Amino acid sequence: MQCISPDWDVAEKIVACVTRREGGASEPPYHSLNFAKHVGDEERNVEQNRKLLAARLDPNLRWQWLQQNHGVETVIITEAAEPIRADGLLTREPGVVCCVLTADCLPVFFAAKDGSEIALVHAGWRGLAAGILENAVAKFASTTKDLCVWLGPAIGPCHFEVGAEVKAAFSSQAQSSAEKFALQSCFKATSNRQKTMADLYAIARIKLARLGLNNVQGGDHCTYCEAEEFYSFRREGITGRMLSMIYIDTVNRE
Ligand SMILES: [Zn+2]
Repeated sequence: MQCISPDWDVAEKIVACVTRREGGASEPPYHSLNFAKHVGDEERNVEQNRKLLAARLDPNLRWQWLQQNHGVETVIITEAAEPIRADGLLTREPGVVCCVLTADCLPVFFAAKDGSEIALVHAGWRGLAAGILENAVAKFASTTKDLCVWLGPAIGPCHFEVGAEVKAAFSSQAQSSAEKFALQSCFKATSNRQKTMADLYAIARIKLARLGLNNVQGGDHCTYCEAEEFYSFRREGITGRMLSMIYIDTVNRE
């Protein structure tokens, strides 16, 4: 089992990673480290995968799962409980693990540089358009200049074909002509005039910059291209989900 972790300038006690698909118990088409129970995989295999990961970490961690629905809500939690119907979690409590499941959508990791608060958001184009990043950032007590962001693996602009109405939805949100140009540059024409190739990472960066968040890392994978590493809903249809997770370590390592 191997994970991808951010290279960001936050306190050591912040632990964040995205799992890759190798090293788990699930059978095809979910092979093998699937963390999602809602995609048709055997529940016992998903449980086994979750146990495999937990066994490598602090046994006192408490895991908060989501029922993601492409909405805009980020919920502030102080303790883990039953899955919450939302697309983002924020906590200031050490040992509480914020979990997001993806296979093409963009997981957006937030951390205060001092390690006092963290958030994790599931962002597809609908969530981005509806304001999930704005809502999440508004829930932080820290000022935006004290926040770092990492964009986890999502479907890249090489493979994310959407309808032309998606481009129109974003460009209509521009607050200046420069921003309109920048947002329109996130979409590239295809041979089909009804379609366009969208760059989720670039859209997220523009929205974060508007909020004053310029310390943004990551955004350099394509879940569709990197078939050995990642699940991709667009590539496979019936498939598993990677786990994005972040927590504040209970052991003060500084
Ligand atoms: Zn690609």
